[in-house]
Amino acid sequence: MPKGVLEQTLVLVKPDAIQRGLFGAITSRFEQKGLKLVGVKMMALDEAVLREHYAHLADKPFFPGLAKFMQSTPVIAMCWEGLDVVNTVRKITGITKGREAEAGSIRGDFSMSVSCNVIHASDSVANAAAEVKRFFKGGEIHGYDKSEYVNVYAEDELNA
Ligand code: UDP
Ligand code: MG
Repeated sequence: MPKGVLEQTLVLVKPDAIQRGLFGAITSRFEQKGLKLVGVKMMALDEAVLREHYAHLADKPFFPGLAKFMQSTPVIAMCWEGLDVVNTVRKITGITKGREAEAGSIRGDFSMSVSCNVIHASDSVANAAAEVKRFFKGGEIHGYDKSEYVNVYAEDELNA
């Protein structure tokens, strides 16, 4: 079994979650899983960053509504680090349509909508790297020793 690759991924806490007071509950899921928070900030998204971030959806009829929703409050951007974390966070997030997302996933437990599905999570290692850069400047991603890692990973995984 490969020991894994240390990765970083982007999560955005969307306006529906901000309005519903779910930031703490959502963040707890990632903390409890054993992931390491290396960046976090609240920010208002402009049209340009949304066009870039949702470039794969820019020509869809729902894009204007999505952009309006994503600008209805600031979002909270978080960068989480861990072994193979991009895939892990997608699993914890659940599928796009909240009302069909697996119970136990964040979308499965906290959302009913396709658009208002509480968080964004990067969907591939390449996109995660681009998205972390899109939302964080170099100095906003922090390196530190996470003391509980000795209880999260086995010794050989820590040295992967
Ligand atoms: N979205 C939407 N209507 C759709 C598909 C997507 O409003 O029919 C929104 C929704 O908020 C989703 C985001 O666009 O989370 C990005 O879509 P994507 O297909 O990348 O889904 P995700 O990666 O977020 O699961
Ligand atoms: Mg996506």
